[in-house]
Amino acid sequence: MIVIMRQHTPQKEIDALTNALVSKGVQVNPVIGEDLTILGLVGDTSRIDQDWVEANRNVLRVMHVAEPYKKANKMFHPEPSVIEIEGRKVGGNSPLALMAGPCSVESEEQICSIAESVKKSGANFLRGGAFKPRTSPYAFQGLRYQGLELLKEAKAKTGMPIVTEIMSPYDIETFVENVDVIQVGARNMQNFDLLRELGKTRKPILLKRGLSATIEEWLMSAEYIMAGGNNQIILCERGIRTFETFTRNTLDLSAIPAVKHQSHLPVVVDPSHASGKWWMVHPLARAAVAVGADGLIIEVHNDPANALCDGQQSIKPASFEELVQELKSIAHAVGRGI
Ligand code: PEP
Ligand code: MN
Repeated sequence: MIVIMRQHTPQKEIDALTNALVSKGVQVNPVIGEDLTILGLVGDTSRIDQDWVEANRNVLRVMHVAEPYKKANKMFHPEPSVIEIEGRKVGGNSPLALMAGPCSVESEEQICSIAESVKKSGANFLRGGAFKPRTSPYAFQGLRYQGLELLKEAKAKTGMPIVTEIMSPYDIETFVENVDVIQVGARNMQNFDLLRELGKTRKPILLKRGLSATIEEWLMSAEYIMAGGNNQIILCERGIRTFETFTRNTLDLSAIPAVKHQSHLPVVVDPSHASGKWWMVHPLARAAVAVGADGLIIEVHNDPANALCDGQQSIKPASFEELVQELKSIAHAVGRGI
């Protein structure tokens, strides 16, 4: 339940109502804005009579929060969240977060050369999988811990923060120590034990949308992490399963304004996994920026034809450079820097 106080309500009146609500067994989280004070009630609000709250002359409106997510809900946190990672900001009016790199770390030469080139083109985060969730157990599974070491080398050379996927709660300590943004992949979006454990950390999390997850389920997964006290979440739309088979997934561009409407969390788009086709990455990336995405995560490979994973959807470094140039005018048109 959310209680919106009238403008200029004296603080002692707000305190009195807060105390009365607390005595009824709910927790009251005040959000003090420039114009309005909002009281967010958490807990068993079924014991609170809406008419009784509305009878208070300082109350402008009472609303039931239909959504089951609270900490991820924009109603409780009207300002957009801005996540700070090694001096870079993601969300709000910050410049676009451009995360680029190969699907998988393959060698020192490969990750370092891609890192250098995408950085030169304007990327501000390095992506690269060390632990790979592959459909086939016989497919390349990633360089695992060695992959993390190589990512650290690339970071040391370029200064770019690392975004990489975690698969198991056993690796949380290692990830907290070695990476800057912990990616939760689509397949693990509802691995609730993993989410709960990540909630105990204070590391930024890139939470990808599940293969067939609704927006509400996706935000509930964010809620799992936030319930543990970790509010540093960046959502990632990466396409969903539909009846269409032409593309690997169907990019749900409407999810970006939907998330912005429902939540304060930043949201980035992954046009690579969404389409599964290198030649669709440019147009989908442009569209994502146009609908208000806070950034992009893009697979870039120096030799896509021989990539160990996802070469078919990886663009080459030169193509990434062109893309960043194309995005400038679109970003500018929607009031974003790059
Ligand atoms: C990835 O980013 O390499 C990846 C496996 O993505 P997703 O979880 O979206 O399939
Ligand atoms: Mn991939």
